[in-house]
Amino acid sequence: MACYYATRPYCCAGAYAERVRTMKTSNDAQLRMPGPTPLPAAVRKACSDQMISHRSPEFAQLYREIEARLAPIFGTHGDVFILTVSGTGGMEACVANTLSPGDKVLAVSIGVFGDRFAEIARVYGADVIDLAFPLGQAADPTQVAQALQAHPDCRVVLVTHNETSTAVTNDMAAISQAVAASRSNPPLLVVDAVSSFGAIPCHMDQWCCDMMLTASQKACMAPPGLSMIAVGPRAWPIIEQARSPRFYLDLRAAKKYADRDNTPYTPAVSAFYGLRQALELMEQEGLEAIYARHGRVARKLRQGLQALGYELVADEAHASDSITAVYFPTGVTGEAFMARLATAGLSVGGGQGALKGKAFRIAHMGYVSEAAIDVVLEMLDRVR
Ligand SMILES: *Cc1c(COP(=O)(O)O)cnc(C)c1O
Repeated sequence: MACYYATRPYCCAGAYAERVRTMKTSNDAQLRMPGPTPLPAAVRKACSDQMISHRSPEFAQLYREIEARLAPIFGTHGDVFILTVSGTGGMEACVANTLSPGDKVLAVSIGVFGDRFAEIARVYGADVIDLAFPLGQAADPTQVAQALQAHPDCRVVLVTHNETSTAVTNDMAAISQAVAASRSNPPLLVVDAVSSFGAIPCHMDQWCCDMMLTASQKACMAPPGLSMIAVGPRAWPIIEQARSPRFYLDLRAAKKYADRDNTPYTPAVSAFYGLRQALELMEQEGLEAIYARHGRVARKLRQGLQALGYELVADEAHASDSITAVYFPTGVTGEAFMARLATAGLSVGGGQGALKGKAFRIAHMGYVSEAAIDVVLEMLDRVR
């Protein structure tokens, strides 16, 4: 039978193929990679609905419902846009709409995704000041403040809320305070919340954050294909004047259409269906309950892993509630260990950047329960 894992080499493993088959009805497939994440049954069903015209009143209604449910998760009263792109497309939209060639940007990085933000800004011709922190550590707000003092002409600060490569969550309240206090007219604060949104609280307005982006396939329990971007009032004059070339990612066009509950170009309609259903499930559970569940799941996993003798990458004080990065046990190559995990039926993320070949990553964002963590721990005990 066809499954979307079919092209993966380790799918050949019989046990794994069997798991994939049963996934269709069970709560969780042991798909524990950081996106795409497993979909609840209701979301899978919603995604299979018939197409509608994206210029119809039905689509406008769909758009409105999604937009209204996204805003409180961002913690904003500002505008929310839904672009048919992956998370990286959303990051690029943030850069292309706020920066002009030669503009000075402070890129705060604690891993691969922070580096990616910096790289996108470089591609757009920005003058990037890199502020990187040691592996497994969160960004130090004091150093952010110092960097902004040293560069009073900095126009934008790029920060990753939850660094998916190292499984570390930045203290956005403290970082945003450092940015806000840096001068009377502080630089724009642009935050990648792709792997935190819907799992870890986001307070865009409270954090005086000007742009925040996420994507459909992480804690939102929807299929890949959409990036949701919240834009605050301070960002608009800058977006209007930015001189970076942009067409598909132009937020001015997105705004023009969003005013009519629509998108400038053909949206991924099925992903919109899925996202609406997922947001409805999230509303039923309640945001506070969702965050508490992610906290419980993450603590349970970290404690269980440590009890099994695994070593974690993240500084415990800033360990993420949506993902955990784990060093491969000694005496086994990363490749061999990953193959064992695949045979056992567990799909995890590999190590990225400095952690390539050294660590793997277990995602626990979105559709995840404590019972699912019991299964993960049991498998990790077996393959050790
Ligand atoms: C997943 C992720 C992205 C976007 O990745 P895409 O594959 O382009 O969707 C960006 N930032 C972070 C922190 C992520 O976890």
